[in-house]
Amino acid sequence: MKLLEVRSLTKSFGKHVAVNDLSFSIEKGHCVALLGANGAGKTTTLEMLSGLQQPTNGSVSFGDVHKGDYREYIGYLPQHPVFFPWMNGMEYLVFMGELSGLSKTKASTRANELLERLGIADAGKRKVGGYSGGMKQRLGIAQALIHEPKLLMLDEPVSALDPVGRREILELMKLLKETTTILFSTHILHDAEEVCDDVIMIHKGKLAITGSVSELRRKHQEDVIIISAE
Ligand code: ATP
Repeated sequence: MKLLEVRSLTKSFGKHVAVNDLSFSIEKGHCVALLGANGAGKTTTLEMLSGLQQPTNGSVSFGDVHKGDYREYIGYLPQHPVFFPWMNGMEYLVFMGELSGLSKTKASTRANELLERLGIADAGKRKVGGYSGGMKQRLGIAQALIHEPKLLMLDEPVSALDPVGRREILELMKLLKETTTILFSTHILHDAEEVCDDVIMIHKGKLAITGSVSELRRKHQEDVIIISAE
């Protein structure tokens, strides 16, 4: 079953077309990699889906959401999330939960569950300013999940991490994909292959390749490496 369908999504900045007539769909329960080199248009695509940017053209439909705003069903971890260093992890999650419309009680319950589930329960009472990069990413993922979204979008969640932190977040994503549909933006083919079922590869804003990870390996590996290396 399709959870998300994107048709002809386009974003221009003046004369520069950052995302060009992009169409793809995401199956419910799948982990999908949005793969592309620097500047390919991954962040712009995710920002349009999350509502941070208005598309120049195109449309998005989301599962059986015909009324209201589908964006409330999306949880989004931006590439450069903003944390408040003076808050502790628990305060941050409750604050973000309330911003997404939860009551304080519901936000606290969810925050406790997520801190536990994402392996940072002990850090919940510590100020976020003292967190490692990996812990911040876990907290960012918890924030994205606080309102129980149907789709979790992660923009380059491992790019800024050291090899240990990177491995930990990839393993966490493998656990999360058991229960959540994920759209994972990355420029690293190996990460896409390791974690995801499907790949949407974009090149200079346009759809280059789409299909299952196994198809990608069989049919397109050389094309992907050439495009990624440009
Ligand atoms: P990266 O991996 O480097 O984050 P990306 O695939 O996420 O790259 P985008 O950040 O979406 O790519 O950028 C796509 C293109 O659009 C780039 O050429 C970028 O310079 C351009 N771009 C993005 N935002 C703006 C903006 N606000 N104004 C003008 N150009 C922009």
